[in-house]
Formats: sequence, structure tokens, C-alpha cells
Amino acid sequence: MNKNKSAKEILADLVGFPVLGGQSNLPILEYIKKYLDGYAVEYQLVPNEEGTSANLHCRIGPAVDGGVVLSGHTDVVPVEGQDWHADPFQLTEKEGKLYGRGSCDMKGFLACCLASVSEIVEADLKKPIYFAFSFDEEIGCLQGSILANAIKDFYEEKPKYAIIGEPSLMQPIVGQKGIVYYGTTVYGSAGHSSGIRKEVSAIHESARLIMWLEKKMDTLIEHGVTDQRFVPDHTSIHIGILEGGIAVNVVADRCTFKWDVRNIPKVNIEDVLTDFEAHCRERELVLQKRFPNAKIKTTEIHPLVPPLDTPDHLSVVDLIKRLSGNNTLGTVAYAAEAGQFSNAGFETVICGPGSIEQAHRANEYISIEELDKGVDFMRKLVRELE
Ligand SMILES: [Zn+2]
Repeated sequence: MNKNKSAKEILADLVGFPVLGGQSNLPILEYIKKYLDGYAVEYQLVPNEEGTSANLHCRIGPAVDGGVVLSGHTDVVPVEGQDWHADPFQLTEKEGKLYGRGSCDMKGFLACCLASVSEIVEADLKKPIYFAFSFDEEIGCLQGSILANAIKDFYEEKPKYAIIGEPSLMQPIVGQKGIVYYGTTVYGSAGHSSGIRKEVSAIHESARLIMWLEKKMDTLIEHGVTDQRFVPDHTSIHIGILEGGIAVNVVADRCTFKWDVRNIPKVNIEDVLTDFEAHCRERELVLQKRFPNAKIKTTEIHPLVPPLDTPDHLSVVDLIKRLSGNNTLGTVAYAAEAGQFSNAGFETVICGPGSIEQAHRANEYISIEELDKGVDFMRKLVRELE
């Protein structure tokens, strides 16, 4: 049996595992497994193909329908190039704040879950609580769907709710934009710059395509395809990187630009790509009249993460209002596993301690007050299910 540790003590332990997205999470998982073993909680692992990382899920309470899944990720973002005032992988307390990479996003929530295990185990739950701890969330929510579906498949009973404990200052979040990144490369013809009228400049063509994408965003807005719950209230399309050309006087035969789409729930993110591809095929025909090998290729460089759109009438909304003590529903523009759990059939909301403002920054922290709120949230959840 474990000595009951506080959320703060557990958080200090968890922050000590510098597991970045894309790296093996087995060390931190070992800690969590041992901790659960201490309370005789059975868990299941969902490893990747190489066996270098694994998701973990477990059920505490009776095998009946209607349980609540608590979801969090075990990986964090890098600290390189950030001006940290102390070791990011050692939890440091200062003036009511706990500093460390992942303290807020989102080991604080994991610590609240684990600190509550003794209480959950002892409670006479009528409905079960599940933990769903993933990896590689920070490099594109790579495991969210896999873990959500593994839970659905593994248990004979049907868990009903999923609470994603991303930092929201314990505000219930019912909407999240979707996201995808693409890279587009234009293949043109090289030549002297004076011959621009007979060559196919990959840079010139890229510029046209970029303007087409900007127009696509503007057209959606003009047609009223907006959602007032989000800031900004529309699907955004943005080009963040453009690379091409070797000299001012040489027509570029290759140019690549990378862009992201962050869609509001009512826009199908794949429609944007379908329209763009159709336009590219038309442009290729035009370009090939000058240069037969002209081509435009687009590939996905960050997997598509679906949006979350939980309607007010679902019972998870009332549940989360009661648990958080906050009736003001919100939305977020960052990517999380919420849309993936929702797509797998769970009534899903985001709600967790700490502020997203602190996430991914130097000197990331969670206030002790927020961490306490997280623990209190767990307590209310246990009472709710008793
Ligand atoms: Zn996160």
C-alpha cells in the first residue's frame, strides 16, 4: 500500500521525468504503474508498434455503463531556447506557484488523478472512473483516437463521459477547433530570370496558390461560415514558411510552403484540401503548357485533429458545471484529444487546473490554488458517482 501522497508531491515526481513528445514514455509510465500497483488498481497498456511507448488505461469501480474517463497526456514540449530561471525538470515552489515543465500542461491534472486514487478506491462508486493516459500528444495528438477506441473495445460496459484535463482554469470547455498542417511543393523550370515569361517559376506559382488560400479563408467568412463561440470566429488558413530559389537572377524550379488550417466545427477541414487540390490540378494544366513536368504536390505534415463541438443539451455539460462550479462554457483554439474522444462516442469536455497561458512557455507553472481546485474537482466527482 502506498503512503498517501499529495498532488503536489506526485507532481514533483512527475515533473522529474523529462519525457518529450516523440520520446519513450516508459520511465514515467513505470512510475504511474507502480503507483497504481500500490492500490491494487489493474491497468491495461496500449503500446506503440516498437514497444517504446504506451498508453495506459484503467477502471476503478464497478463494471457498469455510464462511467467517466479522465484523460491526460504524459509527454511535454521541449525547453530548448527558453529562458528558464531554474531546472525545468525539478518542481520549484515560489510564492504559491509550482514551476516546472509540464506542471500546468498537463501533469498537474495527472497528479490530481493519482492523488485521488486512494479516495476513489475506498469510495462505494455506483459508476466507475477510468484513467486514460496517453503519449505523443504534443507532437500532434497521435494517440488520442487509438486510446479512446482501445477503451471502447476493451471494456464490456460503456463509459459515457470523457473529461480531458487540459489546463482551462477549471472552466468547462465544450468547443475546440480542429487542426491540420500541410506542405505544398511546386516544381517548375529553372532558367535565366530574363526568361520568366517562358519558364515556370515555382515561387511565382506558390505566391498565386498562397493568395488562393487566403481568398478561400476570406470567402468562407464572407459567406457567413463563422462561429461566434471562437476567437477568431472563423476557420483560419495561414502560411508560415516559404522556401525556394537560389539567386535573384535564376527562375526557381522548386518552392515549398507550409500552411495550417484551424477549422471551426461546422467546416469540414478536408473540404478545404479537396478544393485546393482541384485548383492545383487546374493550375498544373496551365503550367504544363510551358513546362510539361510542372507539378504541385501537397502532403500532410501534422495529422488532422478533429474539432470538438459538444452541444449544451448533453448531460456531460450539466455534470461538468456541477463538478467545476463554473457555469460559463468556453471554447479553445488549441489542439487537444477532446475531438478524438468525442468522435469515439464519448460525451466530451475539456476541464483542468492551470492556465493554458502558462503552457509551452519558459517558467511554466501551476498555482497551488489551481492544483487544489483540481483535487477538489476529483472529490466532487467521487461524491457524484457514489
Ligand atoms: Zn496538453
